[in-house]
Amino acid sequence: MSTLTLTNQSTRLVLLFLRHEHFCKALGRCSCVELPTSPPRKGPTVLALAAGTTSAALPEAVLQVPEVQQALREGWLVIGRSHTGGAA
Ligand SMILES: [Zn+2]
Repeated sequence: MSTLTLTNQSTRLVLLFLRHEHFCKALGRCSCVELPTSPPRKGPTVLALAAGTTSAALPEAVLQVPEVQQALREGWLVIGRSHTGGAA
């Protein structure tokens, strides 16, 4: 399985909201988190990237998130590739 990482090359902290209708659908399962509200609600996973940092390995589904696509077009978010599974 191939995974990717995202590097924030901007000079600010970035929060990327991996919304259900984009991210979970592409992923094929729901990865939303339970929010600490009463009653509990489900909300999108939030990917926080400080300036100059690289994310942990992410599934390809992250590329279906419009905010990610836009950031990649703008050039301050950069994809890194890694391959997992098989001989580690
Ligand atoms: Zn979801």
